[in-house]
Amino acid sequence: MPIDPDFMNKLKPSGEHNGHKVWGEVDPPTKLGIHGTNVAVDQDLCNGDGVCVSVCPVNVFEMIDTPGHPLSDKKSDPIREADCIACLACEASCPTQAIKITPK
Ligand code: SF4
Repeated sequence: MPIDPDFMNKLKPSGEHNGHKVWGEVDPPTKLGIHGTNVAVDQDLCNGDGVCVSVCPVNVFEMIDTPGHPLSDKKSDPIREADCIACLACEASCPTQAIKITPK
């Protein structure tokens, strides 16, 4: 199941983390929500392989430790989402379709 492309209409912001919004229900360590807005990562789908970090030409992502999450103990976090140039490389290469880019 990919990230819901309509998350901004279906979910409410529930907080902030590393300078970006967090959307939807959050109950750490098992439920982390969607991190970021124009660069959105569903951290409950992210398997922590880090391909987005490798392909992003402007270094938007950083891997964070998420011990106790059932899928993986590392997640991609869009800490520099304001720098995104909407090339879509991360969205296309994410193996779990956890990323949704909404160009500004
Ligand atoms: S769309 Fe391109 S620039 Fe934006 S976060 Fe993804 S890889 Fe980086």
